[in-house]
Amino acid sequence: MTISKSRGATKKLGPISIGSKIVRFKIPNLDRRFTVHEDLICRTSTFFKTRLQKRRKILNDQDECCVCAEALNPHIKDLTFCIKCGQNVHETCIETWKRSFVHQGYDKPPPTCPMCRATWKNEPLLKYLGVEGDLDAEAVQAYLDWLYCSSLHIDKSVSRKTDAFNVALLKVWEVANAVEDETFKNEIIRTFFTEARACFWSDSVKWAFTQSKRSEEIKAFVIEVFMAYMEPGWFKKEAAKWPDVFTWELADVAMARGERKSFKELEERHCKAMGTQDEGGFSGESSCEIDSDDELSGVLGQPACDALRDRRRDVHQEADLSLAPLPNAGLPSLSRPWRRK
Ligand SMILES: [Zn+2]
Ligand SMILES: [Zn+2]
Repeated sequence: MTISKSRGATKKLGPISIGSKIVRFKIPNLDRRFTVHEDLICRTSTFFKTRLQKRRKILNDQDECCVCAEALNPHIKDLTFCIKCGQNVHETCIETWKRSFVHQGYDKPPPTCPMCRATWKNEPLLKYLGVEGDLDAEAVQAYLDWLYCSSLHIDKSVSRKTDAFNVALLKVWEVANAVEDETFKNEIIRTFFTEARACFWSDSVKWAFTQSKRSEEIKAFVIEVFMAYMEPGWFKKEAAKWPDVFTWELADVAMARGERKSFKELEERHCKAMGTQDEGGFSGESSCEIDSDDELSGVLGQPACDALRDRRRDVHQEADLSLAPLPNAGLPSLSRPWRRK
């Protein structure tokens, strides 16, 4: 999982500034158009930054205005930027600068950036954008509130001791993914660990696993946390009560994590126990050797043979992706299933 890595990452964001430009965005499944200050949302949302302020330079405390040479402090003067070179500049300074071009004589050159000399383009004060995703309106509102207040607020009427709080957090996480806001996502994860008092339960599992659009990252987090409080024997006693897609995922993760032995290790362990290793264990020419899948199906019957072949293929694929690689990967090949060298 990438969560722990991204949580540790700190991005230099510069001083908070809401700026003077507004962006209104729409989400396909919602009837609302959400309104937010462009500079504010571009500060942490990669989705908005790449679409609206891709080249804008991150502001440092020591940065100066290239027109008046005074500090670029967004708390004192409004700032804007050149869309070509990304240079930040005082809004009032660039207006004065642009006016100076009008008085320059007969050919009236277009105003240019004082930094890169590219023609200065005026950006509209209001822009519109669409955000993809199947999002919850209150979760989007919680995101906007967080942008302005720097605190994630889930309605106090949602008890922290119920799964409903977990669902509310997963919904805001979905928003964080849609707008690509790592800082917000980290805040959600922090809130989960500090405020949530209930295990992930049927509502959150249903929300995360029975809708096709949920992100793999959210599902992986639910699985990871769920496994932390699973008791041995869970699959036998509980699995039937949960959605199949969820238990399959749990089983896969559990298997990937378990200490699996390679075929060679198993042979050594079992044959040593029987004291037969000196005679070569299961000999390559033994009577139970099966050379092809056709022969295998003759022995096992076609359905069992298919299941075994699928299982072998899965094992091979998992071996590639496995968290804990199998030492020596001594797995039988597909064409000669149980022959040993
Ligand atoms: Zn200035
Ligand atoms: Zn420029």
